[in-house]
Order: sequence, then C-alpha cells, then structure tokens
Amino acid sequence: MSAPHTPVERADFDQVIVPTFAPAAFIPVRGQGSRVWDQSGRELIDFTGGIAVNVLGHAHPALVAALTDQAGKLWHISNIFTNEPALRLAKKLTAATFADRAFFCNSGAEANEAAFKLARRYAHDTHGPEKSEIISAVNSFHGRTLFTVTVGGQPKYSDGFGPKIQGISHVPYNDLDALAATISDKTCAVVLEPIQGESGVLPAHQAYLEGARKLCDKHNALLIFDEVQTGMGRTGELFAYMNYGVTPDILTNAKSLGGGFPIGLMLATDEIAAHFSVGTHGTTYGGNPLACAVAEAVVDIVNTPEVLNGVKARHERFKRGLLEIGQRHGLFSQVRGMGMLIGCVLDDAWKGRAREIFDAAEREALMILQAGPDVIRLAPSLIIEEADIAEGLARFERAAAKLSQA
Ligand SMILES: *Cc1c(COP(=O)(O)O)cnc(C)c1O
Repeated sequence: MSAPHTPVERADFDQVIVPTFAPAAFIPVRGQGSRVWDQSGRELIDFTGGIAVNVLGHAHPALVAALTDQAGKLWHISNIFTNEPALRLAKKLTAATFADRAFFCNSGAEANEAAFKLARRYAHDTHGPEKSEIISAVNSFHGRTLFTVTVGGQPKYSDGFGPKIQGISHVPYNDLDALAATISDKTCAVVLEPIQGESGVLPAHQAYLEGARKLCDKHNALLIFDEVQTGMGRTGELFAYMNYGVTPDILTNAKSLGGGFPIGLMLATDEIAAHFSVGTHGTTYGGNPLACAVAEAVVDIVNTPEVLNGVKARHERFKRGLLEIGQRHGLFSQVRGMGMLIGCVLDDAWKGRAREIFDAAEREALMILQAGPDVIRLAPSLIIEEADIAEGLARFERAAAKLSQA
C-alpha cells in the first residue's frame, strides 16, 4: 500500500519547481480522449495535445494496454542487451520510410543532437575535418541542449550560456537564394523543419524544400529534416516529408511518437548510419522496452489510411470553423498549417496578444497553444471526435467574442 498523497496546489509550483515555465492556473489531473479534468473537477477541451504529443488523445485503451502489458514484463535492460519492442519498432519505422536504420533516445533535443553529431561525423570521415558547417533557419527550434539551441535560430534561447558551438549559420526560412548564397563545400548539413512549429506554424514552400535538396546534393551536404513536431501522422502523412515528396538523409522525430510516453528517434540510411560505430554515441534509456512498446502501438494505429485520411478531413473541419470565428470577431483572418498542426495568424490589432487569447480560452474551459506572440497554435489529437471539435470551437468562439467586445 502506498501512503496517501500530500495535497498540492498550483502555488507550490512557485516554491519548489525551477522557474523555467509559467504554467496555467489550474492543475490537470485526468484525461480521456480530448477532454481533461482539473483538481476541482472542471472539464476542459484539449486542443493542445500536450504540444503535439498526445497523438491519440489521453488514455487511449491500446496505449494503456501496451504500456501496462510491457510494464509487467520488462521496463529497462540497458543497451548491453537489445529488446523485442525496440527491434519491432525499428522494423516498422524503416519499412514505412526512406530509412534503413533507427536510433532511439528520449526527446527531440536528443534526437537532433544525435543527428547533428552524425552529420558532422559522416562529413569528417568522408571529406575531412573542414567540412563541419551546419546551416539552419532563422526562428527554427531544435531543442534545448547547448548544441541544439545553437543550431536553433533564436538567440533568446542560445545567448548567455558561455561559448557556443562554432560553425553554425542561420538563413531566413523559405528563402532559397539565401540558402544558395550561404551553402558551400564546407557545409556538412542543412537542417530544416518542414513546418516551423514553435515560431508560428509556418509551412515550407514546395520549391524551398526541393531547392534545398538540390543544393545539398550539389555540395555533398546532408539534408536533415527536424520532424520532432511534424512527424507521426500530424500532417496527414506519416512524416511531413511525404507531403512534399522531398526525402531527407536524416530525419528526427519525438513528440507524437510515444503518444505521451517519452521517446526520441533518428532515422538514417545505411550509408550514413554506419558512421556511428560502437561507442561513438549512446544513451542509457534510449530504446528502452517500455517506450518502444508504447511507440509501436502508436505506429500501428497512426500509420493506417483511416487515421491519416481522418487527419486531413479534420484539418478542413477546423479550418472552416476557425475562419468563421476569425471573420465574426476579427482576431485573425489567416489559418495555416497542415493536418492537426494549425496556426491562426493574429491580425495587426491583435499582434503580440496570443497570451491574452490563451487566457481567455482557459476561462471558457478550452486548452489552446501559442506559437510565439502572434500565432495561436492548435495541435490536437489526430483522432479528436467531432463532438469535441464542435464544443471546443464553440468555447473558442465565446472567448473570441468576449475579447473583441472588451
Ligand atoms: C519540441 C521540438 C524539439 C525539442 O523536443 P524536446 O523533446 O522538447 O527536446 C525539437 N525540434 C522541434 C521541431 C520541436 O518542435
């Protein structure tokens, strides 16, 4: 028997947690599908999906079964041994993509850290130490380790932590000329998000990704797609690169892959993966049986025509509803993104005020996200039910009406 829990409240956060976040005023305690309940029993509609993580909503029976079944068998065994869930998951992911090999870790930042290290090692082995430069996009986000914040194009996350990793340059996103002017034979990799998630749900232009692929080939540089946010069905294809028909050399994913259980993934071809030989990179928890068992259940459900087509249909449903709300109340007039990764771009009068809208939605028992100060982001479950979409949009409309009247 475990001891009864000590009661805790939101105010405790400000006493005992390192203040890297400013969470909402309520504490969620339970979720089911796209509904969440807080400590007081209030029911909220969840359009956040845990920031593009809870890909099948909360407490999906197949994921609960996969987790509890594996929990009774084997949680962790270390990488001195392999395990069945990791092997099954890697087979499914490589069969479904361009890749031959998978590397498992525990987060998106770790997946990108592995990708950047692998790209540098590959270039070092095949072309020599001079070929080490990495190009990424302004306003990109690749995680919070020192390497990944340095590659990420946001000084607010990378400045003030001492000397940075050298050899990183940033070019404006969706600007092929800028990329062409910066890439050289010293470039080992170009890393791009197919949709810039954190900084405003901004999709890449088709010609941009095609052009980036050609430039990388010309300069023997690897093309890395950071699909930590866009991967695992979120855009209506298993990975966003499939929407564009532009294939990367290395792909990273995390968020949706575990459906809420932490796991990160790097995918690569045989030729590139061979440059991470025994001992050159590693992780204690990466590829543990618990995480891989849950992710396998996620892949089994998400990588089906029913779910992927459903994502595309839901996108149209959301877009219609959101544009109507925008028209009636004048907060935003542009809705962008793909699948269940949607951005409402705030009109000039509302620029910088995404947090106010977030707070107003919360007062109507609706959970939404910001992507920077000028964009409202929605990243709901891929299988969110029509009743929850309708009710959530009705709540969003009430919040928007109150704001525009105030
Ligand atoms: C969230 C995110 C990351 C970082 O993932 P963590 O699991 O928080 O380390 C990296 N890249 C992109 C595109 C992301 O959206």
